[in-house]
Amino acid sequence: MTAAWQERVSLKPFNTFGIDVDARYFTQAHSDDEVRAALASAAQRQLPVLVIGGGSNLLLTQDVDALVLHMASRGRRVLSEQGERVVVEAEAGEPWHPFVQWSLEQGFSGLENLSLIPGTVGAAPMQNVGAYGVEIKDVFAGLTALDRETGELRDFTLEECAFGYRDSVFKRTPGRWLILRVRFALARTLQAHLDYGPVRQRLQEQGVEQPSAQDISDAICSIRREKLPDPLELGNAGSFFKNPVVSAALSEQIRVWYPGVVAYPQGEGQVKLAAGWLIEQAGWKGYRDGDAGVHRLQSLVLVNYGQASGAQLHALARKIQADILERFGVELEMEPNLY
Ligand SMILES: Cc1cc2nc3c(=O)[nH]c(=O)nc-3n(C[C@H](O)[C@H](O)[C@H](O)COP(=O)(O)OP(=O)(O)OC[C@H]3O[C@@H](n4cnc5c(N)ncnc54)[C@H](O)[C@@H]3O)c2cc1C
Repeated sequence: MTAAWQERVSLKPFNTFGIDVDARYFTQAHSDDEVRAALASAAQRQLPVLVIGGGSNLLLTQDVDALVLHMASRGRRVLSEQGERVVVEAEAGEPWHPFVQWSLEQGFSGLENLSLIPGTVGAAPMQNVGAYGVEIKDVFAGLTALDRETGELRDFTLEECAFGYRDSVFKRTPGRWLILRVRFALARTLQAHLDYGPVRQRLQEQGVEQPSAQDISDAICSIRREKLPDPLELGNAGSFFKNPVVSAALSEQIRVWYPGVVAYPQGEGQVKLAAGWLIEQAGWKGYRDGDAGVHRLQSLVLVNYGQASGAQLHALARKIQADILERFGVELEMEPNLY
């Protein structure tokens, strides 16, 4: 029931930035029982535990003086089908993109816009992953998590997750909840979301007039492959900063100096600015200091050209934050989880 622990394990293959730090102890959990056993042994030894999935939203700035628990549970199933509506469930360790592809192969739509996001099913609710106009909250049907304080299992409804933009109750209470499995409400008939970014245009270029969910997934995969660096070739964690939400007044002030500012009204006098645009205007696109840099095509993506440490990437992120605050009066928040 208890998986073996390894000592002093390099986490380089377990984070998409490719940062070479060590875990003091490392183990994998394939089942609820293995999760419980690992947490119990760690508690006995008074060791903190860091739970990881695909490591695609992590910035590791130092050796991890803890037990790193890698979620490796597998399994996906159809829980119920009622007419149009289908509820599916997947274990936390299931890799996200293959799960999306599996759902499409079953003829279910709803997850197609979230294709090719790295990582695992269990981490997806942490920051309410989103892409191309859809977030998991739009198709969420519940999840089961282990309360690490009491050892009890709890089912969460949509409301209880308190999902926001790249945010959830799980992100706001780090270390409290270990997500074991997640449920999604999908549909047999496609409700296409094509209005975000170049999705519709890409489908038109491909001559697809009545796209299926699989066509949309394929188009989004091709756009993402062009836009985002592949972590296997260039270490990164996707978007490094969240798009900041500021007052409409500040946005208008910025517009006086920068008429091209990219801003999306959010209602109630709030406006979301494109963080990538701000960073590009400030001249950071393509910047490189040693092996830490800003991607040459995507100013929102910090990259590791090989040997950058997490501390170097963090220092670069802080320089960018300070510069954007000074130039625009806007605070940028980092998206990856920092350790
Ligand atoms: C190239 C690239 C593109 C990306 N594009 C997007 C995108 O379009 N949209 C988007 O939203 N994100 C995107 N991301 C970010 C990332 O892929 C997602 O946030 C993903 O859900 C992280 O999953 P993971 O398994 O890798 O999590 P990890 O990085 O392993 O962990 C992230 C956080 O979740 C915690 N955690 C992990 N598993 C569990 C669990 N089972 N229970 C409780 N806590 C857990 C960890 O402790 C950590 O705090 C991208 C990343 C990359 C590298």
